[in-house]
Amino acid sequence: MSIDIVRFLQVLIQEVKEYQVPVVDLIAVQTRDPFKVLVATILSARTKDEVTAQAAERLFDRAPTVQALAELDEKTLQKLIYPVGFYKNKARYLAALPGKLTGDFDSRVPAVMEDLLSLPGVGRKTANLVLAQAFAIPAICVDTHVHRIMNIWGYVETENPLQTEMALRGKLPEEYWIPVNSLLVAFGQGTCRPVAPHCDRCVLADSCPQIGVTPRKLKKKSAAGEILRLVSWNVNGLRAVLKKGFLESVKEMAPDVLGLQEIKAMPEQLPESLLSLDGYHSYFHSAQRKGYSGVAVYSRKIPEQVIVGIDDPRFDSEGRVLTLEFSTFYFVNCYFPNSKNDLSRLGLKHEFNVALQNFADQLARKKSVVICGDYNVAHKEIDLANPKQNQKNAGFTPEERAWMDSFIGAGWIDSFREKNSDADQYSWWSYRSRARDKNIGWRIDYHCVDPASRKRIVDADIYQHIYGSDHCPVVLDFLT
Ligand code: SF4
Repeated sequence: MSIDIVRFLQVLIQEVKEYQVPVVDLIAVQTRDPFKVLVATILSARTKDEVTAQAAERLFDRAPTVQALAELDEKTLQKLIYPVGFYKNKARYLAALPGKLTGDFDSRVPAVMEDLLSLPGVGRKTANLVLAQAFAIPAICVDTHVHRIMNIWGYVETENPLQTEMALRGKLPEEYWIPVNSLLVAFGQGTCRPVAPHCDRCVLADSCPQIGVTPRKLKKKSAAGEILRLVSWNVNGLRAVLKKGFLESVKEMAPDVLGLQEIKAMPEQLPESLLSLDGYHSYFHSAQRKGYSGVAVYSRKIPEQVIVGIDDPRFDSEGRVLTLEFSTFYFVNCYFPNSKNDLSRLGLKHEFNVALQNFADQLARKKSVVICGDYNVAHKEIDLANPKQNQKNAGFTPEERAWMDSFIGAGWIDSFREKNSDADQYSWWSYRSRARDKNIGWRIDYHCVDPASRKRIVDADIYQHIYGSDHCPVVLDFLT
């Protein structure tokens, strides 16, 4: 099936009007300055737009021109642009840029591809973006979103961005060469996302061939049963997250059952909006110690039974497990202990793991079981950004990983890995060093299901776009 590319792009021109404008386009429109467009483009590689925008602002305050940039040494540049991705390399490129521009191009940014490619830190994508945005010269910048979406549409059949650029040069009407990158970057970030794209709400869904795509599954009734959206989120303080858009996030995620960990509050400390969340029945299991641990579950349906704890005072006093029994499954919401930086709770954590697994094994004899929560362990090297440096650290010790091996070995299924084998999929980031901006994270939040329930896993996702805590929510669409 071949698509009508002009119709697709025209539809997207209307669609992305409400979306965030990519930062380099914004700087191009606001400044009309090739130097700033070039610098912002260099900063933007592998960096979120918000981070690029802030770094560019700090840098342009000190260095609005080539001459002013020449006054800054590499260390100062590093400090100004931190935490953009690869900031040390980018500071090196920026330190070398004035010499090259002054020596070879009369202190101006050249408007020719080959000349741009001779500049430090400038590759084909950057050069195309500068030509298009700074000089309005027809050039096709192929960001990863352009390459990906053009292949999803079947408009090109290519293996890398360079092939895509060449294919587009041969067939894309020239009037779209400049805008196509901005359009598809905005669309790729907002709707046609790399993981589980929102085909359910996409304006092109009626005619998109969806080549190689696994669309986000809709909640629906099937002949086999009802699909429920189960969400787990370590909120790191329920009262704190309320001030950071919690109610809006719940509305967006639309969970049928929402398990929260580390609520750090007793019910009597919660405002009415959290005690009886609109549309949900609420259940709490708080720690005896104020401001510590604790779990909560919000459910659209009234459960048949609520089981508080696992009948072990060591763990029940810390408010770690809350189970809701529904007609076809148990929802076990769990906050696994942290083994602590000095690993002083490693033994206790292992005892909890064993007790929890025994408890869940008993339940699984009767019906399906979903154990959601903050497991406080990254299972495999793919599940954290820096596995080598963390071999001896809490959450990735051989002992903790060995228990996870044995748990999975016993047949329990990590629902996210059942559906997704990609790297860089994390659910927790340290508050230090702006780790979330740089996606230096860990995947330590899971929905695991009992061995007999594999076929009930419809879809699994991580909602990295939802903020408010140092964890983000993880999602399981589960056939009940
Ligand atoms: S239908 Fe799905 S795959 Fe196609 S463009 Fe829309 S979001 Fe992307």
